[in-house]
Amino acid sequence: MHAAQFTAEPSPSDVIIAGCGPTGAMLAAELRLHDVRVLVLEKETEPVSFARIVGLHIRSIELMAMRGLLERMLERGRQRPAGGFFAAIDKPAPEGLDSAHAYLLGIPQPVIVHLLEEHAIELGAQVRRGCAVADFDQDDDGVTVELAGGERLRSRYLVGCDGGRSTVRKLLGVGFPGEPSRTETLMGEMEVGVPQEEIAAKVTEIREPHQRFWLRPAGVGVYSVVVPAAGVSDRAKPPTLEDFKQQLRAIAGTDFGVHSPRWLSRFGDATRLAERYRVGRVLLAGDAAHVHPPIGGQGLNLGVQDACNLGWKLAAQVRGWAPETLLDTYQAERHPVAEDVLDNTRAQTELLSAEPGARAVRRLLTELMDFDEVNRYLIEKITAIGIRYDFGAGPDLLGRRLRDIDVRQGHLYGLLHRGRGLLLDRTERLTAGGWSDRVDYLGDPTAALDAPCVLLRPDGHVAWIGDDQQDLDDHLSRWFGKPAD
Ligand SMILES: Cc1cc2nc3c(=O)[nH]c(=O)nc-3n(C[C@H](O)[C@H](O)[C@H](O)COP(=O)(O)OP(=O)(O)OC[C@H]3O[C@@H](n4cnc5c(N)ncnc54)[C@H](O)[C@@H]3O)c2cc1C
Repeated sequence: MHAAQFTAEPSPSDVIIAGCGPTGAMLAAELRLHDVRVLVLEKETEPVSFARIVGLHIRSIELMAMRGLLERMLERGRQRPAGGFFAAIDKPAPEGLDSAHAYLLGIPQPVIVHLLEEHAIELGAQVRRGCAVADFDQDDDGVTVELAGGERLRSRYLVGCDGGRSTVRKLLGVGFPGEPSRTETLMGEMEVGVPQEEIAAKVTEIREPHQRFWLRPAGVGVYSVVVPAAGVSDRAKPPTLEDFKQQLRAIAGTDFGVHSPRWLSRFGDATRLAERYRVGRVLLAGDAAHVHPPIGGQGLNLGVQDACNLGWKLAAQVRGWAPETLLDTYQAERHPVAEDVLDNTRAQTELLSAEPGARAVRRLLTELMDFDEVNRYLIEKITAIGIRYDFGAGPDLLGRRLRDIDVRQGHLYGLLHRGRGLLLDRTERLTAGGWSDRVDYLGDPTAALDAPCVLLRPDGHVAWIGDDQQDLDDHLSRWFGKPAD
């Protein structure tokens, strides 16, 4: 953080978000659900167009359903089986996963970002492109943000959603410990000069020892090419077609006549986690807070889920109803989740090694995944439906997200579009009382609910289970602050 005090014109925003990637766009929309004035600053003038990701995993799909976004995502994506993602070990998902949306939604990252940004703007967020956050200074009342061009803007909070090389994190001086990249992978889309059957046979042969090798059709005449790089490079410099040819020849013995690239990129396997997610009025989310190899396809999902955890809490802070410690539960809940994702990507990375020992462990794990419990455990991890936040002692459901169940009024998630709390009351004796401006009430929802009464937070996690009004009031205070007069 810059030591000098900045002066800035009063700004009409409560929260400035640095970065309009998936995390920043989702967070902007979550804040707008609570009428928080949001300004998103994005350094790129145009959205990034190259496709990076496999798609959305179950928990993120559920979040899209919870915010009324799933229909438009389904129109642009393709449903695929949910299994086969842990270290790319090819096992089908076990029967009866605990979700109404038990599939992977294959959808390119630029499409996700476009739909999330569009949603945020529809809700009233302001997005300014070509604006890079260069510096900031925080005081007791707010944050003054300086753009690369020198313009200064004022807001009450700043959230760094500005990716793995986050300027906000660096200026905050928050440590980012972990491991640097040990390997690098080239990735791009290009045309090839040999027949499809020839490529398919070669890819099957090469992938046996080299899991980080892939050529697959990505449109008419175009192939998506993934090949290990020769070493770890200066990531700021994009690779050339010649780099791809050299590596293809080194690993497959042929460069498949690749030509006419659409785009070329590279990624590493650095694994790092921010020491803190909040310093005063400045917070971090998404890749700005954690980076890890893309194996398992979890990074974007993790960032979107950070945004849904943070959004309503920061909104509560801005709106003035947040209990004192609510904002700090963001780090308490999400830091351990990221730690777990980093660990599972470390494990998966080892399982992709061509070393004989690692290949033996991979064979063993492949056998173990025939046990339903093992397969289920790993898939619940990758898809993030196994997450249980520590809300204290209580039934197993406490702290977990509730699946999308059918209720008398339709689907449960259909009742969460506005990002408010929800009291599901089978006893029809309880009330959200003085919190009804923040928490909706649903009496006699469904017999499928295996509890007398459940309080859901805006992110769909179970905050309380019981049947006693006083106990409920205590928990409403814990999560939603003081009741209205
Ligand atoms: C090859 C590859 C495959 C992947 N596959 C998957 C997958 O299948 N599933 C998955 O979930 N994840 C996957 N990921 C990870 C995923 O792409 C990232 O985790 C995700 O993009 C993180 O989103 P974000 O919004 O936090 O950060 P980013 O997407 O990096 O967005 C940050 C934004 O901030 C902007 N910005 C940067 N600095 C500033 C600044 N100073 N001021 C203003 N704006 C700024 C950037 O321009 C960018 O738009 C993959 C990654 C790679 C490399």
